[in-house]
Amino acid sequence: MSRFLSVIQVDEAIRVIRGMTSISPGEEISLSDAYGRVLSNDICSDVNIPGFDRSTVDGYAVISSDTTGAGDAIPSMLKLTGRIVMGDIPEDKLIPGTCMYIPTGASLPSGADAVVMIEYSEEIGDQVLIQRPVAPGENVIVRGEDFGSDRVAVPAGTQISSRVAGVLAACGADYVQVSSRPRIGIISTGNELVPVKAIPLGGQIRDVNTWLCNAFVTENGGIPISYGIIKDDRKSLSDALNDALCSCDAVLMSGGSSKGERDMCADIITSHGQVLVHGIAISPGKPTIIGLVNGKPVIGLPGHPASAYVVLLVFVRELINGMTGRSESENHIFVRLKTPLRSAQGREDYVRAILKGEYVEPVLGKSGLTNTLIHSDGVIKVPGTVEGYEAGDFVKVILW
Ligand code: AMP
Ligand code: MG
Repeated sequence: MSRFLSVIQVDEAIRVIRGMTSISPGEEISLSDAYGRVLSNDICSDVNIPGFDRSTVDGYAVISSDTTGAGDAIPSMLKLTGRIVMGDIPEDKLIPGTCMYIPTGASLPSGADAVVMIEYSEEIGDQVLIQRPVAPGENVIVRGEDFGSDRVAVPAGTQISSRVAGVLAACGADYVQVSSRPRIGIISTGNELVPVKAIPLGGQIRDVNTWLCNAFVTENGGIPISYGIIKDDRKSLSDALNDALCSCDAVLMSGGSSKGERDMCADIITSHGQVLVHGIAISPGKPTIIGLVNGKPVIGLPGHPASAYVVLLVFVRELINGMTGRSESENHIFVRLKTPLRSAQGREDYVRAILKGEYVEPVLGKSGLTNTLIHSDGVIKVPGTVEGYEAGDFVKVILW
């Protein structure tokens, strides 16, 4: 067997992952339990929102043409015919030359087509001096402008965040159809690993990846199930993988994913099923494994936490999205580079970086450091077709 990895391109690896996943059957749940879940259906509001033409300011409902040419020196004078109460639908129609007081959020009377802000008016007895003209529709949200029953408010594939939950509430979606949360098994391998609560002795380190994977899976809409720290020993690894496959939809194994003497993950996966990919043209993260056992994806992540994290971002996110139907991917921006950045052609690089004003600066340092996961704002993505960037070039930064 070759001592080298047979490296494939990132796009190809993503295609392999997409080919292994399908959206899980869904369930209907209450909006109160829906945080983090992924919508299976498009959601439309059951009613027009707002259900009436609504003022966005405190002021006077008017017919806009009555305010043409109004100014401080020569205001338009309109007769005040009423005061609209919040929550009421005004009965009287507004006629030319008149206005009605209206609070923010209240319904416009029929006949009115704009609202003059209170700051630009002066009430004197039953007359109102209007000191600014308004255009038709100014300071008004018309019926159905926000959401309507005729169009999608939140598309299928959206993960329910606090913002989305608010919009679903407005749309009357007190129960929503969501995909099931995939159960993702997590195995950390390495003789040197000790649990978080232990004080590491000579040569030992704390298990970081279990917790990195655990939180990542939760953030991305899955259920993490940890199988603990497993020694670099065939029987223990094989038993742990078996256990995980029995009750999970996919498994993440970190450490031992390369081709060193003590790297057993690929062999263990092969003994249970198939290794489809071993080696991807990505840095960090080259020694990544994509396997399939009894139809379930098994991903081998490199041991170093910063490398494992890039693999989580680029491949495991894709895996979980494939199972939940989530459509959004990473949050990114394009920013100018502060200092030049070199990269090997043919390899996709992810360089941790800090945003500084309108620039982004790569965090340079030894690759084995974990502190850069905190002391950075995200990663600069350098595509495989690019050899590097000059200072001042616009680069894509995937924000954490
Ligand atoms: P490996 O991929 O097993 O060769 O590990 C590469 C490096 O990552 C080694 O320095 C390991 O000690 C470290 N490492 C492996 N697994 C973990 C883990 N779960 N938490 C923290 N570091 C790890
Ligand atoms: Mg190891």
